[in-house]
Amino acid sequence: MRKNVIKEILELLDKEYGTTKEQFLHQEDWQLLLAIMLSAQSTDKQVYEVLPNLWKRFQTINQMAEASIEEIEQYIKTVGLYKSKAKNMKKCCSQIIENFHGKVPMTVDELVTLAGVGRKSATLFLADAYGIPGVTVDTHVLRISKRLGLAKGNNPVQVEKELMEVLPKENWNRINFQLIYHGRAICTARKCHCHKCFIEKWCEKRIEK
Ligand code: SF4
Repeated sequence: MRKNVIKEILELLDKEYGTTKEQFLHQEDWQLLLAIMLSAQSTDKQVYEVLPNLWKRFQTINQMAEASIEEIEQYIKTVGLYKSKAKNMKKCCSQIIENFHGKVPMTVDELVTLAGVGRKSATLFLADAYGIPGVTVDTHVLRISKRLGLAKGNNPVQVEKELMEVLPKENWNRINFQLIYHGRAICTARKCHCHKCFIEKWCEKRIEK
């Protein structure tokens, strides 16, 4: 895809969806990491709703590590997969205390050793906490990158690599939430609503049927 086309697409995404995403409520890095963990397979709204009470009860990483899984569950049970998330949250905090002296590590390789933290959550955490550039590829990013012609790969790792090659670094952290919004509103998995798509002119597919 030509550079000027990519530039047009990125400018339109910035205009429509903005360049920054509201961060999850947190005071400490470990809280941000757990909030990102909670957001997997759940809506941001569900996560925003549980965080105030969760952080009121668990103000230190030790309190979370020492709590019972059942108690953690009570605070997050409106969030998807809450049982496995409660288990991972407790274990993740224990691992941070035991393996990293109580400080959340700052590399993807170290972060993915923590319970419940995958590559995507690790990249999002580093971007939100420290502004470290990274591209995170979920199902929306994968689908729309291919439809637009930004990438051709068939799995998140390939597409992540392709996007990092073609996108300017300053766009890496925001392409994820911009394409998620676009994937929910217009270019959905079931149907591409190309007639109301503001990037239709630049899209390689325009595959509405
Ligand atoms: S033009 Fe259609 S296929 Fe392309 S991004 Fe927009 S909705 Fe998706």
